[in-house]
Order: sequence, then structure tokens, then C-alpha cells
Amino acid sequence: MRQWLEQAQSIREWIVDIRRDLHQYPELGYQEYRTSQVIRDHLDELGIPYRHPVAETGVVAQVGTGRPPCVALRADMDALPIQEETDVPFRSRHEGKMHACGHDAHVAMLLGAARLLKAHERALPGTVRLVFQPAEEGGAGGDRMCAAGVLDDDPPVQRIFGLHVWPFAPTGTVVGRAGTFMAAACEVDIRVQGHGGHAAMPHITVDPVVTAAKIVTELQTIVSRELDPLAGGVVSITGIRAGEAFNVIPPTARMWGTLRSLTAEGMDFLKSRVESMTTLVGEANRCRVQVSYPGTGYPPTVNDPDCWRLAQEVIGELLGEERVLEVAPIMGAEDFAFYTRRVPGCFLGLGVRNEAQGATYPVHHPRFTLDEDALPIGAALHVALALKALAELRAKGAGLDG
Ligand SMILES: [Zn+2]
Ligand SMILES: [Zn+2]
Repeated sequence: MRQWLEQAQSIREWIVDIRRDLHQYPELGYQEYRTSQVIRDHLDELGIPYRHPVAETGVVAQVGTGRPPCVALRADMDALPIQEETDVPFRSRHEGKMHACGHDAHVAMLLGAARLLKAHERALPGTVRLVFQPAEEGGAGGDRMCAAGVLDDDPPVQRIFGLHVWPFAPTGTVVGRAGTFMAAACEVDIRVQGHGGHAAMPHITVDPVVTAAKIVTELQTIVSRELDPLAGGVVSITGIRAGEAFNVIPPTARMWGTLRSLTAEGMDFLKSRVESMTTLVGEANRCRVQVSYPGTGYPPTVNDPDCWRLAQEVIGELLGEERVLEVAPIMGAEDFAFYTRRVPGCFLGLGVRNEAQGATYPVHHPRFTLDEDALPIGAALHVALALKALAELRAKGAGLDG
């Protein structure tokens, strides 16, 4: 196992250069055209065949025998609408966009893994599918990749692994757990219809602002009073917009926010309670209320226990047993969930925290940076996970074609 770490270290500069290049040209979900081109250029250089476009900008490459068993590795490509505030020399050149979630690192690490796997292709006991997907940040790119048959192409994927940079854990460690690792997430949009008028004569208006305020307050009791305290849940209203003038009661108010739960059933419960509570508070205040859940909600990211056991063994052999950090679930969400809903898999957090470098900001922060020493570790981890999973599938005789 350790030889993969050494091999990855030997191509460290190559991986870091790719990451820094991508970092300078961040692209939002489904617009990752340059990123996708960079990936395909490197795959061409390496002589690795791929399918493109998949879900707009996605690229699906393959290394190995072309026969079962088949294991997939996944990286996401999109950036965030954030103005970068770091002072790294390779900071974003795209105004208002930033790789603040480390997906530049994800792509670079998976390309690193592709290069190592290709160099050992003859020895591979099966097929490794490399999935570069668009639009993780709310665009459900993973869902569209699944719909495009990424898991079903011949040979079908039997296991899938994904890494996410993890600024809460120091470089050289890897976090994860069996079962639910990350939450289900759903966007909520609430529109309150009242009747506007002069702010000095509220009695001839129906005020949507006061009603909206009551709705926000009322929603707070769903989690605190209706949910089992041991079950996780979040109802956060993150935006309110209504009116312009200090002396006009506006006709409408709009609110938006996010719901989180650790289970699909929990999410159904939150949605139905948000809807009925909001509607009834509106009615009690003479307003009409419309609730919708735009976009594609993310299911919970659930790690297969056997894949987590395999990951723990791999991390132990690669980095040392003490480098495996078993953590509690978090309320962040991941569209890796769409893959693990279909095939057993495991999502892992790769430690990138380095206090000495000031790499301590969380993802989605304008000053987020990461310790690049983690990049070869991630590439080696990808390779080692795929090889061990292939070996185990082969030993089980699962999916062999004779
Ligand atoms: Zn993110
Ligand atoms: Zn992310």
C-alpha cells in the first residue's frame, strides 16, 4: 500500500500544478467547460479513453481490463459564487467565483490517481471508472450522472468511493463513518401574499411583513418541540425580502432557506410540517402563502458499512491506524448521495488543515485554503481504495464474467 504514497509523492508537482491552474479559473455548476477541457486534455495525454459530454460538462473515463469487477472513483468540478479573499499567488481570476469547496483539489487528485492507475494498468484486476461530475453545489450533478448511466455502463459499477477535502482535520488524517455521514438537504421558498398600502393606515392593508416574521418564529418549534431531540434536523430561514420604502406596507414578502435531516423520512416530516405550519399561520393572518421546494433535494449520504471497513483498512495501511478519525454525522449535504443510493460506497473526508500555513478556514469561506501536502495523499488513497475493492470483489467472485 505504502508504495502508492511514494508514487503519488513522485508526481506531487504535476498534481499541484493542475490544482493551481483549476483554482485560477473557477466555473459554476454546469458551466465547467474549461475544467472539463483540462481534464480531457490530461486524459488524452495519458492515453485514457473517456465518455463526454455527460450531464453537460461531465467526463467519465476508464482504466483497466474493461471487464468486471468495476469500482468507481468520483470527483466534482464546480466552484462557488464567492469572491476570493486569500492572498495565494494562484487566486481566482474569475470575478465573484472561487474554488472555496476544494473541488479543484478533487479533480487534481483524481487525475493523479488516473495517472498512477494507467501506469499499472496491466496489473489491474478489473476496471476503475473515473467520474468527473458537474454541479455538486446544489445542482444535483450526481443525480444527472446516474441518470446518464454512469453506474450502469458496461461493466456496471459495484462499489464507489469519493473524497472531500476536510478543513476540520489535519493533513495526514482521513475522516468517515459507517451509515449516514451527511444529511439530506432541501431548499425551501415561501411567498406571502398580503395587501399593500400606506404604512400609516395598516388597518386597510393586510401586512405580509408581520406575517412573515410570525412564520419565521413559528417554524423554530418544528425542530425544538416536534422532533425527537436525538434525531437531527434543521430548519433555517436564511433570507427575507419585502418592500422598499419606509412608509409603504408591501403587498408581498418572500423568504427562503434550507431544511436538513439525517433520514429521508425525517426530511418528509420537515417538509410537510413547514408547509402546513406556514399555510396556517398565513391564514390566521389573512395572507395567502405558497410553499415550494425548488431544485432537486439531496438524499442523505450513507456509507456502506463494509466499504467503510475497507476504507479504514486502506487508510491504516497507507497512513497508519491512528490516522483514521471516526466522526459523528454532519448536517452538510453532498450529492455523492445519489451514487450511494444506487451502489454500495463510501465518502471520506481528507484532512487538509494546517495551522502553520493558516489553512484553518472552513469550506465555503472566502479565505478557505488547503494544505497541498494532502493532494498526493488523496491521489494515493483513491488508487489504494480502488485496488483493494477490486481485489475483494474478485476474491468474492462477484461480477466476474467467467
Ligand atoms: Zn461545497
Ligand atoms: Zn464540496
